[in-house]
Amino acid sequence: MVNYKEAVQRLGELLEKEAEEWSAGPLFIKIAKSLTNDDEIDFDFSITIGHDKRRPKTPSDENCYWLPVNINENSATFREKNIYGIFSVACYHAGFNLVANWMKREECVVFGCNRKRFHNEERNKDQMSKRPRNVKDQSKEPAQRDRKTVRPIKENDEETCKFSFRVYWDSDKERWFLPKQQSGSLKHCGHGHFDSKLLRLEAKHGLSADEQKLASDCFQTKNTTTGTTNLLNYRNNIGLERHQIQYLKKKSKNDLVINDMDPDNVPNTAEITAADRTLAILKNKPNVSFTALTAECSSGLITLKRRKQSFNNSVTVEEFNMELQDDTDSPEDFAARELGVDAPFSTSTSTGGKKSENERQVPKNLHLKNGQVLLALAWTTDGGRREFDMFPEIVFGDATEETNSEERPLYTLLGKDNMNKSFGHTWCFMPSNAKWAYSWFFEDAVPTLHPGTAC
Ligand SMILES: [Zn+2]
Repeated sequence: MVNYKEAVQRLGELLEKEAEEWSAGPLFIKIAKSLTNDDEIDFDFSITIGHDKRRPKTPSDENCYWLPVNINENSATFREKNIYGIFSVACYHAGFNLVANWMKREECVVFGCNRKRFHNEERNKDQMSKRPRNVKDQSKEPAQRDRKTVRPIKENDEETCKFSFRVYWDSDKERWFLPKQQSGSLKHCGHGHFDSKLLRLEAKHGLSADEQKLASDCFQTKNTTTGTTNLLNYRNNIGLERHQIQYLKKKSKNDLVINDMDPDNVPNTAEITAADRTLAILKNKPNVSFTALTAECSSGLITLKRRKQSFNNSVTVEEFNMELQDDTDSPEDFAARELGVDAPFSTSTSTGGKKSENERQVPKNLHLKNGQVLLALAWTTDGGRREFDMFPEIVFGDATEETNSEERPLYTLLGKDNMNKSFGHTWCFMPSNAKWAYSWFFEDAVPTLHPGTAC
């Protein structure tokens, strides 16, 4: 009969024993059958490691295994995107993570266990302080984080892991290869072997180009992040976390904004707001036309502008002069609150309860990268325009609250066709429920979006 204490002790001893030294394997990747035959086969490359042999002078089918022909490129981004990923995933399934370094002189990538180097607190701090910070407010001190390192710490006099192997590039044949026998080491030491569920794989390494395309298609078709994460993990047998996919999703939207910009003037991505992303998404959809009400402030004066993308995809920006002021609020007041300048109209101070309600509804982050503020945004699709022009007899609309992170009501207009089926044709993110916002929508936005020329 083993009691609990003894069992824990034995487990501890076993783990310690494993941490002393263990061999990794098997490590499966796909390779080509031969240099000329590109049929892919599964191959355990752990048998090539640890033979104390140098790079073969003339790589051939005799002494090498070739990686598939579709990855016959060698540039920094290509290696990062394709080559590192293949080996990272193989090692991830074997219970450890990799680090990779390109060695130009020997034309090879040196892979090692990520516990092969010591953690150096001083150098780490030094490097972090040199990196540009991707935050909204650069003047703010960074928050203290309780960071943990997975690398061994030198003070403990721990031995670092010696696991390593190389993948070579043949510049004559333009192919990646693994020698049938190479040096390096298959032995890990100083750490145990982990279940892959406990390891974190970087999304860029875990997902091939095809899988990344699938992920971006999932985002395009409005699949949830959780659903996309489950799908990718199931297809690739990996364990990406939800926040990793959330990051990819946000990055793909930010890339749309960055594409529209002057490439020399790319801001740090934390400065890109939800308003920028919304405009970029609408601008990049060929079948969408939109009109937006923006405000800008120069020397204390607030100017309203109308930015419009019509169905031929031309974008125009012009000054907006329509009278929208209502008794309780006006677009200028709203913009002033958002820009943080003094309200130009006295009405904003003399109003009672209604006003404070509007104030509470000022959304959080509507600044655009060009310094303007997005007040309202309405859009339609080519299909919606056509249906509205065909069946303009009935229109009904309603606002839905809590549909977006910026806490703006989403106003939808619907129509009804000859088959008694309803269709949505115009959508608008309202700045608030103030009267002027509705005046703008019905008097300016709807006539702009539906000139009545679609059929
Ligand atoms: Zn190791």
